[in-house]
Order: sequence, then structure tokens, then C-alpha cells
Amino acid sequence: MMPGAGTRLYGVIGFPLGHTLSPALHNAAFAATGHDGVYVALPVAPARLADAMAGVRALRIAGLSVTVPHKVAVVDLLDGLTPEARAAGAVNAVYREGERLLGHNTDIAGYQAMLAEAGQEARRALVLGAGGAARAVCLALRRAGIPFTVAARDTAKAADLARALGAGGDGSVRAAIAWEDLGTLLPAIDLLINTTPIGMHPAVAASPAPDLAALPAGAIVHDIVYRPRETLLLAAARARGLRTVEGGTMLVAQAAEAFERWTGFPAPVAEMRAAFEQATGDDQSC
Ligand code: NAP
Repeated sequence: MMPGAGTRLYGVIGFPLGHTLSPALHNAAFAATGHDGVYVALPVAPARLADAMAGVRALRIAGLSVTVPHKVAVVDLLDGLTPEARAAGAVNAVYREGERLLGHNTDIAGYQAMLAEAGQEARRALVLGAGGAARAVCLALRRAGIPFTVAARDTAKAADLARALGAGGDGSVRAAIAWEDLGTLLPAIDLLINTTPIGMHPAVAASPAPDLAALPAGAIVHDIVYRPRETLLLAAARARGLRTVEGGTMLVAQAAEAFERWTGFPAPVAEMRAAFEQATGDDQSC
């Protein structure tokens, strides 16, 4: 559909934004549903965030994705938050209610889609990393009733996240451990989740858990990194015969939830998934 006078404008703000796949996913969704919208990448330097949000209001942008480094800073520039955004302490999708701009977090639903693919039956998880995405992952684990331990190179951050989100479950396993000790916990878990950027393009020859030998045979490995689709961590897990879930599942699911909030229509998930696969398959660097 050609943009016209009634076309609604959507976009993603972040900095830098070189590798964002969001325009491919959302424009595919608009095309599949006939929604008269255009989605563009809008790089916004940190010092210009307030100006950019004033522009979002003035231009009546209909929906906005928010990525690194603005997910927390944008909170103070909005008129309200959903319970998900409040619980996550971060916003990755802004939507409009009349003149009000509201912040939501779709990473929680995004990770729930990974759990649904494989992992819902897990009895103990180990979360690698304690950043923004880890918080959404831990919230989803808590909602699923899966006790978890957080391992991060900043042990204080791991402990803060674990305490804030009630990790540890029955208390038989520590809620947070130092990064260098994560190997000691592998025999006791059945779900390993990478939420760090380790293994992400272009530094693809790295894994956050180089030796998976100690994981039990039925363990499941999740990597929320989606570029490349098969990270070194997932390749090692598959080589061991373990079940794996790729970060693309989370990317597509979080985008689908944003689409639904913006438009009120069910998201065309299959078309969004196909757009993701085409964008990553076309990219020789993946
Ligand atoms: P973030 O807030 O910067 O958090 C990154 C975490 O990883 C921090 O705990 C950081 O530790 C840790 N970390 C980074 N490099 C490390 C290293 N070399 N060794 C050990 N720990 C390291 O980033 P984020 O927003 O959570 O995103 C993390 C990753 O998830 C990115 O690759 C992002 O693309 C991906 N992601 C994917 C989806 C999806 O839909 N699939 C959604 C969101 C994010 P420090 O705090 O010590 O720096």
C-alpha cells in the first residue's frame, strides 16, 4: 500500500540503530493485514531523547518501539505505564491513548513465547546476565513458577535482580552466583538462558557458557541473542543433543504484542516470522 494522507507513522528509537530488524517485521505485519501504516528506524542520541519524545507527540506518531539505550530513560517522558512496564522498570513499546503516551514492556511476553516452545516444564533455571532483558526473563520465569538463579559478572547486580524478583524458590539453591562459578551450578539446572550479548554478531565466536558437558541430558538451552540465529551456545547445545530455543522467537513475539497494542488487530505472526527469517537469512554476516 502506498503511503497517503491517512497513513499512520510508527518507528523505533535507539542509538545506534544500524542492525534493527523491527522495520522488516512491522512493515511485513502492516502489509499482511492491510493496516495503513509505515514503520521507520529513528536513531536518537541520548542527549536528544526529550526532544524526540516531544516530536513523537507533535507528529502524532501512532506507536513507537524503544531500544538500547532509551528503555529506562524514556519512562520519565511518558504519561503512564502498564503493569508490565512498571514491573520490568523499562519500556520497549509506547502506545497512544488519545493524547496520552503510555509505556509498555513486551519482552516479558516475548520470553514467554520461548518458554512455551520448550521450557515450561523446567524445574530450575540459570539466567546468565542481569541487564534489562534479564529482568523481563526473570519476571516470566517467576510467573511460570520456575525457580531460578542469576549469574552475572557484576555479582551485586545479580544479587539485586534475584532479590527484586524472588529468585531461588525453595531456597535450596543460591539465588545469585558469581559469573566465574556458573559452571558449578550446571548439574543442578534443567534450563539455561543467555541474556547477555555474548555470541552476538559480529563477535560470534564467543559463548557465555563454553562447557555444557555438566548439563543434565534433558536440559533445555535458550539464547535470546537472535543474530546469528544459531549462536555458538545453541550450536554446542545441539551438538550435545539438548533441546534449544532461538532468540528469534522472542523477537517476533515481542513485536507481535506491540503490533496488537498499536492496532487492536491480531498480529500476523507467521508473516512476521517469515520477515525475520528473510532478514537474517539474507544477511551473510549471520
Ligand atoms: P543490557 O541491559 O546491556 O544487559 C546485558 C547484560 O549482559 C548485563 O548484565 C551485562 O553485564 C552482561 N554482559 C555483557 N557483556 C558481558 C560479558 N562479556 N561477560 C559477562 N556478562 C556480560 O542489555 P539487554 O538489553 O539486556 O540485552 C542483552 C542481549 O539480549 C542483547 O544481545 C540484545 O540484543 C538481546 N535481546 C534480545 C531480545 C529478543 O527479542 N530476542 C530482546 C531484548 C534483548 P554488565 O552489567 O556487567 O555490563
